[in-house]
Amino acid sequence: MSYKYITELTSPNRSKRRSKVRRIVIHHWDDPKRKPSLDGVLSWLTTTKSKVSAHYVVSGRKVYRLVPESMVAWHARGGSSDSIGIECDPRQQDETYETAAELIREIRGRHGDIPLVRHRDVKGSSTTCPGTYDLARLDRLARGGSAACPPPAPAPAAPSVPPFPLPRGHYYGPPSGPIQSVSGRGRNSRVPSDVIEVNGRWRSKGLATWQARMQARGWNIGESGADGRYGRDTARVVKRFQKNKGLKVDGKIGPATWRAAWALPVK
Ligand SMILES: [Zn+2]
Repeated sequence: MSYKYITELTSPNRSKRRSKVRRIVIHHWDDPKRKPSLDGVLSWLTTTKSKVSAHYVVSGRKVYRLVPESMVAWHARGGSSDSIGIECDPRQQDETYETAAELIREIRGRHGDIPLVRHRDVKGSSTTCPGTYDLARLDRLARGGSAACPPPAPAPAAPSVPPFPLPRGHYYGPPSGPIQSVSGRGRNSRVPSDVIEVNGRWRSKGLATWQARMQARGWNIGESGADGRYGRDTARVVKRFQKNKGLKVDGKIGPATWRAAWALPVK
């Protein structure tokens, strides 16, 4: 994490969350012409009398968390219950874009590949918020794109699906499974060319490929990254992804879950 995460401030303007988080609502604090201040917005969002809040306020390299994601913040009338609200610095500095994008990537790691929505596009809202904020740029950055000037986007070619590396009946799964469950965490006599030892540590080349692909889709696969080892973070991502895409939720990366990582659209 390259930003400073600040949790000392909390907002009383929150309620119990009863539905699943399905989207991320992007706000800006105010019209930049009015020179809004960070302190000003933080105090407004944390005072009882305002009756408004947000989960996060982002400015430059700083992220203030005012409401935990497990609760509803009062940031978008009619759209708060199923969303996470991020208030972005209206000056739209590059750092704010980068920081918000990193935060979005992490939120998606927790809640799945959920879309970004402008506050004004929330049904029932009457606002111009978030001004000219470029959500496509935020989304591109969150998915690992370049921070520099947005490139003129050529239509992305659908990536071709690499062949599933394991023999029939095998899958990537936990080490506790049968021999057909290839975890990459130890020697597997069935797939000696896929599970290899590197510097005294076992890893699966195929599993590392799938993990890297999931990262490129914006999933947070845990601190150790695409390490070719099936652990808790990989299990969590596999299950969420399967649920997301209507696949059988079994935590196993067989041919269908493998293929989906390339063939199904990122959304
Ligand atoms: Zn707003």
